[in-house]
Amino acid sequence: MKPVLFISDLHLSPERSAVNRLFHVFLNGPARAAEALYVLGDLFDSWAGDDDLDDPFNREMVAALGQLTGHGVVLYVMHGNRDLLMGERFAAACRAVLLPDPTLTHVCRVPTLLMHGDTLCTDDAAYQAFRAQVRDPAFQAAFLAKPLAERKAFIGQLRSRSEAEKGQKPAEIMDVNPGAVEAELRRHGFPRLIHGHTHRPARHLHDLEGRCCERWVLPDWYERGGYLACDEGGWRLVAL
Ligand code: MN
Repeated sequence: MKPVLFISDLHLSPERSAVNRLFHVFLNGPARAAEALYVLGDLFDSWAGDDDLDDPFNREMVAALGQLTGHGVVLYVMHGNRDLLMGERFAAACRAVLLPDPTLTHVCRVPTLLMHGDTLCTDDAAYQAFRAQVRDPAFQAAFLAKPLAERKAFIGQLRSRSEAEKGQKPAEIMDVNPGAVEAELRRHGFPRLIHGHTHRPARHLHDLEGRCCERWVLPDWYERGGYLACDEGGWRLVAL
């Protein structure tokens, strides 16, 4: 059995060439040997709309993903908070399957809930209000109707503001809320949960009504990279 791999929070951007090189190594190595690759959000540091597919950096990355699917690896992509505007043209360009957040599926015969993870950070009320606004279809349609250059400038401003605010927020509110995690596990029938977003890679166990649910948190790719793998040998986090 070929392994199934999970990654998230690569935040690919032309400014971080070491990570981009690592991503190519990953795609040509472990990912190429996999049955399927799940990207659980924030593949790109920003995505202004699918009309930005002609940007040289985006084109290079999408071509690399297309090579992977050309080798028969099934590619699933979920939106994160940074790349929520990736759409059907992006998906078609690399033959990816876009996944809704959350998605309940079977991985290695185990019921598994896939999420980006930001919806679990319910203690950050300001972020949740912002998320509701940018996920609103009418808001997105109006935003995508603006010229590409204007959208990119707006995203750039948003980015600097969010970096400044992050320094002000206590570390706890940037993590998942245990109650929110448990509510999702209950609602979906006590599956295994895999998510990213918090950049706190770990394996957690949640005891709920006598059921033990495993929760894997994926690593980010800021300092280094990593992935979660599942095969007949079990589940493991692998650092790159
Ligand atoms: Mn995120």
